[in-house]
Amino acid sequence: MSQVAENLLRLRERIDMACRRVSRTPEDVTLVAVTKTVGPDRIREAIDAGVEVLGENRVQEAAPKIEALAGIASDFGAGVAWHMIGHLQRNKVKKAVTMFEMIQSVDSYDLAAEIDRRCGQLDKVMEILIEVNTSGEETKYGVPPDQTIDLVRRISHLNSTNIKGLMTIGAFTDDEDSIRSCFRTLRKLARQIEGSDVGNTEMRYLSMGMTSDYELAVEEGSNLVRIGTAIFGPRQGQTGPKLSEGGVYN
Ligand SMILES: *Cc1c(COP(=O)(O)O)cnc(C)c1O
Repeated sequence: MSQVAENLLRLRERIDMACRRVSRTPEDVTLVAVTKTVGPDRIREAIDAGVEVLGENRVQEAAPKIEALAGIASDFGAGVAWHMIGHLQRNKVKKAVTMFEMIQSVDSYDLAAEIDRRCGQLDKVMEILIEVNTSGEETKYGVPPDQTIDLVRRISHLNSTNIKGLMTIGAFTDDEDSIRSCFRTLRKLARQIEGSDVGNTEMRYLSMGMTSDYELAVEEGSNLVRIGTAIFGPRQGQTGPKLSEGGVYN
């Protein structure tokens, strides 16, 4: 078994355990394997081990990989889906809408409108998530929580984008309570949006949780976890999660 396949097994076990702690069904949690800095060969190992959704955060980096892996079907029969999870510049939208099945990082009306315009030209509809800055950290992208419903309302009138949920990045800290509070904010916002009868909008996905905090995120209701390091190992120059004995990332 490849290292990637072994890491995936362990990761799925831990997601399962997190689900069980809060009486959730593991099948409800979709794993997005984040492949930034990872080459097509190792991405292929993840696909062979059953990964069906892949995440990239830069259009230029993703393009050649998506091309190299085009047409590769996973063991489960379907082709893989690529999600854009990083900050998207408007001048990259034209290309991005041809590459991705979902854009998880929409945080302004202007960006959504540009996605809408480009998708309209191609006669396609893009699934999008609204990225919310739940930690208030200035270095993070995302709409502030108190402006989220207004943004969702405005974007909901666009024809070639469909809002499918919310995305966030947890606070960059070791403090569990602060991280949990970010995820709770996102879940609460989704409930408020569901309760406010916005057209053309579904709160089907809560995209939250990365290598350092996915178990907390699952406990707090995440159903889309975006995980790179725990599957592919540390990226170059990354400080990030520590490798404990036995090669388990935690
Ligand atoms: C890189 C990245 C991830 C995955 O991070 P890991 O800590 O390697 O699991 C998740 N979400 C976004 C937006 C990212 O850029």
